[in-house]
Amino acid sequence: MPDFKETYTVTRNYIPVPSKRRPGLFIQKVRFIVAHDTGNPASTASQNVRYYINSRNEKSASAHLFVDDKEIIECVPALNAPPEKAWHVLYSVPKDNELYGVNANDAAIGVEYCYGGNIDADKAYNKYVWVLAKLCYEFQLDPSKDIVGHFFLDPKRKTDPVTGLAHSRRTYDQLLVDVVQEYCKCLGKEGLSAPRLASTGRVVVAVKLNVRKEPDTRSEIVQVLSPGMIFDYIKVINNGQSINNNSTWYEDANGNYVWSGGVK
Ligand SMILES: [Zn+2]
Repeated sequence: MPDFKETYTVTRNYIPVPSKRRPGLFIQKVRFIVAHDTGNPASTASQNVRYYINSRNEKSASAHLFVDDKEIIECVPALNAPPEKAWHVLYSVPKDNELYGVNANDAAIGVEYCYGGNIDADKAYNKYVWVLAKLCYEFQLDPSKDIVGHFFLDPKRKTDPVTGLAHSRRTYDQLLVDVVQEYCKCLGKEGLSAPRLASTGRVVVAVKLNVRKEPDTRSEIVQVLSPGMIFDYIKVINNGQSINNNSTWYEDANGNYVWSGGVK
């Protein structure tokens, strides 16, 4: 498993636990990431975190990370300690369950973009893109599928991070593209062409699994993977040999294949 480039550091300033904003409940499995902005122009990452800490027993709203042009601050554990729950999306919205089968508060990391005022928009944007990519790497998420904007989950009430990104002259769509590129760049995969990037990803092996020369169980075995191992793929093949009615196989950078039924 290649190392992810540590372009920036994530500093800790944790909200005391237990409190309304940080009850100290662990996330069993991080399933996706919610992209937010603070909705509060000109407020910096440290100002937001200080406010959260000072009002920790007055309100329950929270998020894991705040990003501005100067720093990335983690106020609820995500990258620097076992991930805990934060309260950043209403439980009543249905979209998170439809998309990922779980409520955002129980399984998603919330990342807040700080913008406006004296915040250098380009520097803040670069840090935001990097930390989203880093989270995907850390939790084995697909950067092209597992990041969603708050507005998308709660369209009646929210416009973030679209509003904040507009201060950087960027769109939400651009953000999603840039995170995939950053993810590949930080893994040293810059050379891959754009169409291939869209289908690259990482899966965790669920059972003892053979890596084969062709997407077919009659072809030569080149390696045997054990449960828990990582398989990085660059292409998804939908017309491989069908096993249990599933003909999807993953192809790796060496042109070898594993059957998708054997991975998580
Ligand atoms: Zn939000």
